[in-house]
Amino acid sequence: MSIQQNLQSIKSSLPEHVTLVAVSKTKPVSDLMEAYNAGQRVFGENKIQEMVDKYEVMPNDVEWHMIGHVQSNKVKYMASFVRLIHGVDNFKLLKEINKQATKHDRVIDCLLQIKIASEDSKFGMTPEEASEIIKSEAFSELKNIRIVGLMGMATFTDDENQVKKEFDYLKNAFENLKSIKKDNCLLNTVSMGMSGDYKLAINCGSTMVRVGSSIFGIRNYS
Ligand SMILES: *Cc1c(COP(=O)(O)O)cnc(C)c1O
Repeated sequence: MSIQQNLQSIKSSLPEHVTLVAVSKTKPVSDLMEAYNAGQRVFGENKIQEMVDKYEVMPNDVEWHMIGHVQSNKVKYMASFVRLIHGVDNFKLLKEINKQATKHDRVIDCLLQIKIASEDSKFGMTPEEASEIIKSEAFSELKNIRIVGLMGMATFTDDENQVKKEFDYLKNAFENLKSIKKDNCLLNTVSMGMSGDYKLAINCGSTMVRVGSSIFGIRNYS
């Protein structure tokens, strides 16, 4: 099926409250444009340089989401345009995002990444660490960022029960943190679910799915 057909079929299966992030990492701009021309506006990339290169040539109304692990020293390259940073996993990074956002007189929305997988390779903090950050005085001073939700990546496994447990855990953490109200924290987004598990994620309460290969086909990293 074409990119346009893949998109249409996925979109028609999503409830209205669920945002589709089209994960276009490694894919050429021509593929992104095919999705764009089919109406897609939200794109996710996991490398800052690649996202910047695509931002420079794609239409202005694309919403760029950084879904990968972010190094503090690279935040400056995306601070002028990034719409949502999914993978924030420490306070130092939040401070840097705030600093760069201030330079551009913007407020940058962020998700805190929670480690839900059993694999060591996945990044993220515990719900307790997220709670401590949000409640801290130092966090309140960051006026140019806003925490709008949580993000998680489930274990890469065929065991649906395990994946469901991990999604439930993230949704539960979200519900527990939601009551915290601060000017720079308003939790309304749960980013979980990829090509293989987005339907399960939605059943577990996801409001934002990050789908790559089911739209653009398998990736070739060489
Ligand atoms: C690559 C990636 C995705 C999309 O993966 P697919 O299995 O191709 O849908 C989603 N989230 C993150 C963080 C990714 O790095």
